[in-house]
Amino acid sequence: MTDEPLVRTRIRGEQDVFTVRQLGREVAREVGLEAQDQTRIATALSEVGRLVVAEGRDAEVVFTTPRGRVPTLQVEMSYPALPEDAGRLAAQLTQVRRLVDTLEVTGNGPGTLVRMARRLPLGAPELTRSRMDEIRAHLADHVPGTPLDELSVQNQQLIAALDEVRAQRDDLARLNAELEETNRGVMALYHQLSDELEETNRGVVALYAELDEKSVQLRAASEAKSRFLANVSHELRAPVTAIIGLGRLLTDGSSEPLTTEQSRQVELIRGSATDLLTLVNELLDLAKAEAGRIEPAWTDVDLKAVFGQLRGTLRPLATRPDVDFVVEEPGEPRLRSDEVLLAQVLRNLLTNAIKFTAEGEVRLSAVRTGDDIEFTVSDTGTGIPPELTERIFEEFYQVPGSQALSGKGTGLGLPYARRLVGILGGALRVSSEPGKGSTFTVCLPVAP
Ligand code: ADP
Repeated sequence: MTDEPLVRTRIRGEQDVFTVRQLGREVAREVGLEAQDQTRIATALSEVGRLVVAEGRDAEVVFTTPRGRVPTLQVEMSYPALPEDAGRLAAQLTQVRRLVDTLEVTGNGPGTLVRMARRLPLGAPELTRSRMDEIRAHLADHVPGTPLDELSVQNQQLIAALDEVRAQRDDLARLNAELEETNRGVMALYHQLSDELEETNRGVVALYAELDEKSVQLRAASEAKSRFLANVSHELRAPVTAIIGLGRLLTDGSSEPLTTEQSRQVELIRGSATDLLTLVNELLDLAKAEAGRIEPAWTDVDLKAVFGQLRGTLRPLATRPDVDFVVEEPGEPRLRSDEVLLAQVLRNLLTNAIKFTAEGEVRLSAVRTGDDIEFTVSDTGTGIPPELTERIFEEFYQVPGSQALSGKGTGLGLPYARRLVGILGGALRVSSEPGKGSTFTVCLPVAP
């Protein structure tokens, strides 16, 4: 591309306005502007030309394709006029401005300069030097038509433009109809969806109602079970205690002496009754905990004292020579809790650990972790298969084949311990490896 003009011409009178109009269209066509843009350039030129002629001036018109990033057709019209005329002309050209991309009017020394430009479309052929020469040659051969010729061309363009407008209006009407159709479809879909949603909602509401009813029934059943357990165990306690007392009476020195066989049998009865009493007591405790009838007595618990007491009361149980019984000093001196319930939980876990450990150690420790205290009861005993670590918290569940080394169990200790820890606002977890040992962790808030 080059700044060298493609063509230049002059407007000296009305006749030349037609000529410039034709030339403008021709140049626009040659440089690759589309038909509508050709008309736009031609119309813009004839408008400016008309105004210049009306002022009784001559104008020079120069067509160029200036060097730059975007290929553009530029037309400059200059004519002698006072600088203040530029403002007036600019005001008259507001309509013309819409036909081109840029239009500037400047007072240019003793003259006025109108510069307008239109970008070439992307697909326009490249304006090489030889192409420019070719265009120049074509334009030099251009023979201007008469005003009548120009009128006929203008009429044809008008008809084409009107045709296009009609076609666009028809397109618009068709698009509108399609849009309306689509809208109707969307609305129908929306209604269908909202109906389905409503239906689903109704189903969900019904389901929730059923669920509520079921959970009320479940709660009632669980309360009935706890009540039953509490009543039965309470009723059983008196006769069982009586059996134990009677047994003691029969065997103590103040009664008639019994034969050896009789003594053995009475001892058996007493042993069984004692086991039964343990079971009844544990059942009663669990039933109470489940019924929410255990109210913790919150106090500042001195952990050193609790640990000391556990050390003293449990050492006599940990008699196996190959097992070390270690109660560490607590890592945190106090916490707010119920001392009796806490001691009960830890005693339960330690008793289990002692029961299931043949060698190694049983250890109790407490450390602070953030707002909690973690009590750990670890042992090097039989361990618990991983798939059963949750089941041992079910009532009466005992790991099949697990043999307590001392004492019998009821399978109620861990469910009760977990309940108590829950009441104290904490959690009881276990991790274990069969053959290696188990670790029970009680996590309690320092200040619940
Ligand atoms: P119990 O000890 O009276 O049988 P628990 O509820 O305290 O009842 O424990 C349930 C079962 O969990 C025990 O029978 C035993 O199989 C298993 N268990 C509990 N603690 C341990 C432990 N420290 N090591 C191995 N097994 C354990």
